[in-house]
Amino acid sequence: MNMRRTKIIFTLGPATESEEMLSKLIEGGADIVRLNMAHASHDWTRMIIKRIRSVSAKVSRDVAIMMDIKGPEIRTGDLAVPIELQPGEIFDFTVRPGGQRDSAEEIRSVDVNYKDLLNDINVGDTVLVDSGLIRLEVLQKDNAHIRCRVLIPGELKSRRHINLPGVKVNLPSFTEKDRGDATVGIEEGIDFLALSFVREASDITNLREFLAERKSGARIIAKIEDQSAIANLDEIVRACDALMVARGDLGIECPFEDLPVIQRRAVKACISEGKPVIIATHMLESMISQPVPTRAEITDVANAVYEQADCVMLSGETTVGKYPLECVQMLDKIARRIEVEEDPGRGPASVFTPEKMKVLHSAVVLANELPNSKIVTFTRLGFMAGGLAALRPVRSPILAFTPVPETFRQLRIMRSVEPILMPFAAEPADTIEDAMGWLRRMGYVSPGDKLIIATDIVVQDRLVDSIQLRTVR
Ligand code: PEP
Repeated sequence: MNMRRTKIIFTLGPATESEEMLSKLIEGGADIVRLNMAHASHDWTRMIIKRIRSVSAKVSRDVAIMMDIKGPEIRTGDLAVPIELQPGEIFDFTVRPGGQRDSAEEIRSVDVNYKDLLNDINVGDTVLVDSGLIRLEVLQKDNAHIRCRVLIPGELKSRRHINLPGVKVNLPSFTEKDRGDATVGIEEGIDFLALSFVREASDITNLREFLAERKSGARIIAKIEDQSAIANLDEIVRACDALMVARGDLGIECPFEDLPVIQRRAVKACISEGKPVIIATHMLESMISQPVPTRAEITDVANAVYEQADCVMLSGETTVGKYPLECVQMLDKIARRIEVEEDPGRGPASVFTPEKMKVLHSAVVLANELPNSKIVTFTRLGFMAGGLAALRPVRSPILAFTPVPETFRQLRIMRSVEPILMPFAAEPADTIEDAMGWLRRMGYVSPGDKLIIATDIVVQDRLVDSIQLRTVR
């Protein structure tokens, strides 16, 4: 059985929410379904989570569900009619509507939904509006206005997203809306919660407390999208359960030529900490309207696979695109092609200090040495499988048995890991025998395959980490 190692995430939207499309994408190999809460009501969310679970059961492939909460966001207010900003025009963002202005001159303006912006922003800073399409420079500020010059003009419409590259914004990382959304997600049993605009590790530890108070086992994905996140990358990677390189906002908040450098650094940091990493946004953007990707997009996806990211993610391609199934099939095809090309020398030589990681490291070294080898592991919370996945075995899949349905779905995020749900016997040795039988029955292994089994076994009443080498008969 030829398994794809890179996992596929797709974002659900009007193009994919029907039962029919959902089953096609899940059967087509999607591993995780993402719900973008920027565009979701609570009723829709509850309904769609039930639908995803029932479709998964029908097609016998349990996918994981990621709820992506919006995080802090600055937006322009309502405008009766759009404003066509002119190059060089002087324009005001009004932070306290009705505030007094010294100047008598007629200057056009729009409100902003964040009144402390005045304290956070400085003369010389850049204001980007509508995904960076419009660019302004701050000239001066008073008690109610931020006066700017238009550098890149465009049409300013109501409620547009504002980015402030390099500005440390004092908005809470977990907003009232996020709290409401996360509560619905927890009640409906989501597997992952993705937090937008994570700026420092404490954003994650606060969310972890929120989840623990509600007894949720959802894992936290930190979305890195601005310069603060890059400055604090290592502590964020240590604090989170997985990381998303959210290239949409990151490409606005950081110099765009830094984006590939940041992506590579983030992937490496995650691999050495043993945390799964997702590459997101614009992977197959042109397939929103075209049935085939550009050469550059194919190469971008291939790069993520070469870099050994755990997951690649689709957004607009599957929310509003015309070819959502083709996009999943395209990612599947590119990933499989590149995975056989990978240079074995590029596997990470991470040095893990804990004893357990040394055992796992030995298992991966052995797997890399033996042709036709497969790693088998047993895991309740996913740590054994996560450690093995982080060591990036060159060719061998990691067949990860777990008796816990939540862990089974959460394992979908890890590169090379094929999760298998199976009850564990009272004795670890019996669990191994049950697993061997399962693998043979389901055609996961063939005679002659070498199985490297990384697990704990009972020796004189003590649990001991072990590696066994078995040949399938
Ligand atoms: C991104 O900015 O790349 C991203 C994935 O976040 P969102 O879709 O929430 O903007």
